[in-house]
Amino acid sequence: MPFVAGNWKMNTDLAAAVELTEKIVAGCSGYLDRCDIALFPPFPYLQVVGRALGQDGFLLGAQDVYPMPDGAFTGEVSTSMLLDLNVKVVLVGHSERRHVIGEDDLLVNAKVLAAVAAGLDVVLCVGETLQQREAGRTEHVNVGQLTSGLRGVDAGRMDQLTIAYEPVWAIGTGKVAGPDQAAEVHRVLRATIGDLYDDDVAEAIRLQYGGSVKAKDAPGLFACPEIDGGLIGGASLDSEQFKAIVGAAVDAAP
Ligand code: PEP
Repeated sequence: MPFVAGNWKMNTDLAAAVELTEKIVAGCSGYLDRCDIALFPPFPYLQVVGRALGQDGFLLGAQDVYPMPDGAFTGEVSTSMLLDLNVKVVLVGHSERRHVIGEDDLLVNAKVLAAVAAGLDVVLCVGETLQQREAGRTEHVNVGQLTSGLRGVDAGRMDQLTIAYEPVWAIGTGKVAGPDQAAEVHRVLRATIGDLYDDDVAEAIRLQYGGSVKAKDAPGLFACPEIDGGLIGGASLDSEQFKAIVGAAVDAAP
């Protein structure tokens, strides 16, 4: 089953978050038996978005999490706080957290481990910058981020993981990786998971593509068997675009 998620980043206000959720629920409910669908609203709106999502199978997601259980960590949010709000899945290692906020691989790995141990699902994001791609380091960077992000995650927990390949040069820039470019990296990521775990884990894990995906790009990307869904930023703020992207994932599913 494909997995499409909407990352709202630091967008919407309270009223807009509820309205957008209601529109997405109305537009996408009919796809829930054929696609996992998650929304990642800003932290302050998790509770209202969770209520608006209802119990119908949409997944409530958080854009980040802190690895420590509680204590003097001003501004941070723990796994138990997220579980209190019925959050099911967290984004970890989004490129904006890595490159704007400055998170390193060690912190990303600590977040993955804490979230998984708490029973949350994780979307672990990896991706190269333009400079790294132009220097021929795409594979090295993605394999490195994936390997360090998964360090210490047992094979038995890998069903809680999704990997999102999000080339940094494509996020929020309007430049979408072509299906072949995305599929090439997805093959490397899946092979790496096969090396780290085994073929069954590699085959079962879902690999999302993210980076400026709009409804017009979705059919071409999702037609690649290597791509199991999308992590959608800007286009997830438009319920019609988001619905069309989910529809394209459903249409392309085997
Ligand atoms: C994202 O936030 O993960 C993302 C891919 O953003 P956009 O679709 O806007 O590039």
